[in-house]
Amino acid sequence: MNERRCRCCQKLFQPSKYQPRQRVCGDPLCQRKRRTEYHQQKIATDPEYREVCRDSPRKWRARHPDYWKRYRSDHPAVVERNRQQQQTRDRRRRLRQLANNTSALDLKRSAAQVWLLGAGAAHLANNNSAPAQVWVIEALAPRPDSVPPPCKQQPSGLEAASAG
Ligand SMILES: [Zn+2]
Repeated sequence: MNERRCRCCQKLFQPSKYQPRQRVCGDPLCQRKRRTEYHQQKIATDPEYREVCRDSPRKWRARHPDYWKRYRSDHPAVVERNRQQQQTRDRRRRLRQLANNTSALDLKRSAAQVWLLGAGAAHLANNNSAPAQVWVIEALAPRPDSVPPPCKQQPSGLEAASAG
């Protein structure tokens, strides 16, 4: 039929019956290229267009001061999702700060694994987006006199007392 060659990718395409002058095929990459070229050409040749492009976000906000307030009240689910994502980002930032400020300079990684047991374990293991971290803090060494002597060295008297 009346196929023509795309100005961007050079492939043959069927122009839309609504766009008889179409020169670029419907491929998203070609369409993006066409819009970018149009935009750049307009900016270069049309002072008014250039002015609108430069000012539009600021002017738009000035004309619609309540837009975000209204958007938030109309889309509670989106607001809630954003709130949770922000909380996750905050939590991650706090953990990073904690990791950077730790005074334990001789940290060693352990190969320990965490095993979940019980009825909810499968659900927890599949849906746990927060990989567990276990921090093992070095304890003070026990005082020598509080260590019980090994069994073989127990005084015979004690053994006799407990047996009798
Ligand atoms: Zn194309």
